[in-house]
Amino acid sequence: MHLAFWRDLLQLLEGSVTREALSLWIAPLKPLLLSDSKIVIEVPSGLHERIVRERYLGTLRRYAHVLRGREMQIDFVVAETPLPPPSPPLLPETRRRPMPQPSTINRNYTFESFIVGRCNRAAYSAALSAANRCRRRRNPLFITGSVGLGKTHLLQAIGAHLLARGERDIVCLPSEQLMDELTAAVGNRTIERGRRRLTSSGMILVDDIHFLSGRNQMQEEFFHIFRILHQKGRQIVLTSDRPPKEIHLLQQRLVSRFESGSLVSLTPPSLRTRISILEHKAKIFGLKLTPDILVLLASRIRTNIRRMEGALNRIAAHAALSGTEPDREIVERILEERHFDCDEGLITVRGIQKRVAAHFQVKLAILLGSGRSETIVLPRQMAMYLCRKLICAPYADIGAAFSGRDHTTALHACKTIEGLCRSNREAREMVDELVTVIRT
Ligand code: ADP
Ligand code: MG
Repeated sequence: MHLAFWRDLLQLLEGSVTREALSLWIAPLKPLLLSDSKIVIEVPSGLHERIVRERYLGTLRRYAHVLRGREMQIDFVVAETPLPPPSPPLLPETRRRPMPQPSTINRNYTFESFIVGRCNRAAYSAALSAANRCRRRRNPLFITGSVGLGKTHLLQAIGAHLLARGERDIVCLPSEQLMDELTAAVGNRTIERGRRRLTSSGMILVDDIHFLSGRNQMQEEFFHIFRILHQKGRQIVLTSDRPPKEIHLLQQRLVSRFESGSLVSLTPPSLRTRISILEHKAKIFGLKLTPDILVLLASRIRTNIRRMEGALNRIAAHAALSGTEPDREIVERILEERHFDCDEGLITVRGIQKRVAAHFQVKLAILLGSGRSETIVLPRQMAMYLCRKLICAPYADIGAAFSGRDHTTALHACKTIEGLCRSNREAREMVDELVTVIRT
């Protein structure tokens, strides 16, 4: 449908643009996305974009309107400069098989539902290019940004885009799951099979790659998988809350591999973009918010889009329970009660310790102290694990923050909780709950 629409659009244009202009300015355009209300077109350069905007945007809009029967938003993204092509494969190409379970893709996270502003345009364009396997794309694509700014959303949008096109040989997973799979494969002596599954994929999308920090064996494995996929020219997309060289205890060769493609970052959205995001999300929650309330929310929650959703969720719940439209006073109260507008996007070791202590109803001093009763050891280990999981703190720093314990204690705590989560559903749910509490 995508390409048929584009062909029709070009045919209409042929009637009103000279042949030279058509081959010079229109032919190099590449449609990357077509949704019900939006078209995203790749242009070879910034200059090209300016000229197309000035001379042909009006006509494009008019014809798109005619073809789709509604107003279409038209956006442009500039293609990246290509890097030299990857060296020829060292290994023979393995047959590409469809993945048994294609991936953990959340189909709500799409390019259409991603609001674009200056803060995320480069990342959005690069992700769209990757999803369309554009020839000029760089590999790997590495997306960084602090918590709640849309890394997972973009990564999943690539996956959803490919799935919608019927491409199923993609692997999309959080790095922790990748490590679990590899660890299990090593344990079961099925590592070859595990590697093959990953290296025969058409594209690999790994979320939160910073969790490789300090995991030497996993880094070895991932390096191996990365190298093979890269040599085959398969797209690799990684996300992290920090740039490769700031990931603690990451092998230098991985740092250089990760830096060798396209490195794009997500930054906090401007007030205008925050308002657009809130408007979009409010619709999803079925909320009617006045411009006044939208501005209030956007000016209070500045750096974490997940928090905006948390606040809207509360407002929607309140509206449903009370049967009244949310007004300014209610919104102010919810923001205050739930601290949606404080400590924005910044999760600290101290913050985690406090939240975990509150959750288990123990005093902070006791959580950090030397007590060894079971009721205190589990929360303490959980807090250490969360420091690792959520902010990737080095083991030595975690140990030190818990009354000067050493790094082996922190490492042991993390391993214990990981093991517990693998075997015990309750423990997994507890971790999920704590993560939500700490993040929102
Ligand atoms: P991260 O992985 O960077 O921590 P997520 O991708 O999980 O952040 O985003 C947090 C929430 O905010 C998600 O529900 C996501 O849909 C939403 N979100 C983030 N950026 C945008 C955006 N630009 N437009 C719409 N929703 C967004
Ligand atoms: Mg994420």
